Amino acid sequence: LVAEDPVGYRARVSPGHIATRLLNDGATLTYAQLDDRIARCAAFLYAAFQARGEGFRVAGLGRNSVDLLVLAFACQRIRAIFVPLNWRLGVAELAGIVADCAPELVVYEAEFQAAAETLREGRPGLSIMPYAGAPESLDQALADTAPMQRLKGDPDKPAILLYTSGTTGAPKGVILTRRNLFYSAVNFSFVGEVVPGSVTFCDLPFFHTIGLVAIARTTLMMGGTLVIADRFVPERTINCLNDDSIGVTHYFAVPQMATILRDQPGYSPERMARLKAIFIGGAPLPPPLVDAYLKDGVALVNGYGMSEAGTVMHMPLDETEIARRHGSVGFPAPLIEVRICDEAGHDCETGAVGELWIRGPSVSPGYWQKPEQTAAAFVDGWFRTGDMVRCDEDGFHVIADRLKDMYISGGENVYPAEVEAAILSHPAVAEVAVIGVADARWGEVGVAFIVRRPDAVLDAETIKAHCGERLAAYKRPTHVIFMDAIPRNAGGKPLKPVLRADWAARSA
Ligand code: ATP
Ligand code: MG
Repeated sequence: LVAEDPVGYRARVSPGHIATRLLNDGATLTYAQLDDRIARCAAFLYAAFQARGEGFRVAGLGRNSVDLLVLAFACQRIRAIFVPLNWRLGVAELAGIVADCAPELVVYEAEFQAAAETLREGRPGLSIMPYAGAPESLDQALADTAPMQRLKGDPDKPAILLYTSGTTGAPKGVILTRRNLFYSAVNFSFVGEVVPGSVTFCDLPFFHTIGLVAIARTTLMMGGTLVIADRFVPERTINCLNDDSIGVTHYFAVPQMATILRDQPGYSPERMARLKAIFIGGAPLPPPLVDAYLKDGVALVNGYGMSEAGTVMHMPLDETEIARRHGSVGFPAPLIEVRICDEAGHDCETGAVGELWIRGPSVSPGYWQKPEQTAAAFVDGWFRTGDMVRCDEDGFHVIADRLKDMYISGGENVYPAEVEAAILSHPAVAEVAVIGVADARWGEVGVAFIVRRPDAVLDAETIKAHCGERLAAYKRPTHVIFMDAIPRNAGGKPLKPVLRADWAARSA
């Protein structure tokens, strides 16, 4: 039962335990109450759409809420497929995703009503429905529907379509089966030490794997308490982490968020040190940030994962190792097999950088209706991650960078992440992103886009001198551009295609 229906299982084991708490108004649901809501939602969706056959899609468009999770678990109980939509996207981008996954229903938060209506105009037959606040709302429908029993289903059929961040191209719909989701949650519960007494706090969006799977699903499967914020608001997050009556044990952030939090008034090292850890992932973790937090007694634990597989690698929760292994993402999660391969798909020698291939029960079977991209990335039972990785003799892994972002200068491979880390060690630098661009002499050279710290004085020559002391000549950026902000997506990842276009416009 725990694999098929984690909340149903917990509703039997610990029905009175608090499952979810909303940060905004403090409202809580016990496992029994959450289970009841899921059972009603399942009944409602089943009655409305079962005629469309197994595997019909239901999309959710809204900030983090209990109902987004209710929809996800309800779909799983009736063999439907849940699609969490990224509310930060523009309506044209959303329309592209909706055309791709063709849902029967979009359930939306009131704020996104206009977007939902535009989506419906573009798709005759699409039903839309607000969460609450109208006679025809999900809230009302659940009040009017009796709960239903879970249907048995095939664990290898799709349960969720999770669109990738779209960092390197258009987002791809990753198929995750119930089996994938179960093992993903097992993996994070193991590396993150999540137990029934854990109180996890999620202000990362539920439309990405960290929020929806690593945090929410793991917590609910393990019987902990999930504190939900509708989105990241730094002062609110600090207040929550400081609040003894909530008692958060696990907090999760992308590196950008951790940087912002430490500068926030009210940030208190003593309070933060009571967290088991701050779990970081999604993008390279700057070493100076790790050191700063360690000085405060707070462990930033780096983990590596992706929509296609959930948690893949994780540092142990050990401050000594974290201090010693800057930049490492640690060891593979349970049941994840890894290979580090050259271009021809042969295993590299220990210590060499190669592309990471992974295999295991949490790895997706492929992309939704994208046979070509599926065939290119899913090869002989392995998933090619597109990330360049190295493993040291002790088995600790370091992400060099994405294969797509690597560039070749004077015949040598350059991983922008390494150049970015060197530049970020300059105290006047707030943010940086490096890309490779064509160069007549060297083939490609680096361009560093830099955001200065407020009030800091910094020029290109200083940055070049700083790099000169830290990086081999071929890795030093040739061009330095100062900007007000680096364009980023919801996961805090720099949008390098946007920077490449920016460079093309500047050099045209
Ligand atoms: P798309 O596939 O659409 O280009 P995306 O790969 O950014 O988008 P996600 O699945 O959300 O979409 O992100 C996974 C990627 O994030 C990984 O493949 C890796 O490149 C990067 N990543 C994740 N964790 C880390 C980490 N700890 N350090 C460095 N990079 C990371
Ligand atoms: Mg990707």
